[in-house]
Amino acid sequence: MITRDIILFGKPGSGKGTLGKNIIKADTGFLHMSTGDIFRDNMKRETELGLEIIEVMDTGELVNDELTCAIVEDWLEQIDENKYVIYDGFPRTEHQLHWLLVYYHENNRKLPFFVEIDISDEIVIERITQRAIEQDRPEDQKPYIIKQRLNVYDSQTNIIKELIHEYLPPEQIIKLDGTLPMKKVHNSMLQTIERNPIG
Ligand code: ADP
Repeated sequence: MITRDIILFGKPGSGKGTLGKNIIKADTGFLHMSTGDIFRDNMKRETELGLEIIEVMDTGELVNDELTCAIVEDWLEQIDENKYVIYDGFPRTEHQLHWLLVYYHENNRKLPFFVEIDISDEIVIERITQRAIEQDRPEDQKPYIIKQRLNVYDSQTNIIKELIHEYLPPEQIIKLDGTLPMKKVHNSMLQTIERNPIG
């Protein structure tokens, strides 16, 4: 049994969303926090937030930190306290990481597992192109936007992999091979967590 929140971390298209949804299917004690899903939903419904972020999403850039953290905070304030959270696509910047850790500290929440899905740019590009067609994600349909999102990952998100070691013990940081089929990635994560003394 997993008794902590989980941050799923990896490049766009690394499989975070699929892994997150599979964990929730297998273990009903979890809730899915996908900032990307919340942003897309707001764009589709043309809410005030949706209209504000449309341009950013269309260019592959990140939504600003203040807005993103406010949305996560709102969401966290409303959830069932007995459930654990799977973060998919958050935190994505150094600022977001620090914000989340401060929030955990102030709210006495047990620090999460950090699960990194490791995968090459080449495989990510293939997957995102496929997903754009299957899931109707317009922001993924143009090759230069995919490249831009990978650049944004390299320049703003990748650093979190290093920083996280300052905050979590090594047992709480898990690295998975994202080129394996999703079922294997899932099993490998469960095995690592179940063997884990931190639990
Ligand atoms: P993927 O599943 O490909 O990683 P997401 O669905 O997580 O993509 O995100 C899609 C887009 O939503 C991002 O390119 C970005 O514009 C915006 N977004 C999602 N999460 C964040 C975040 N934590 N901070 C800023 N922008 C975000």
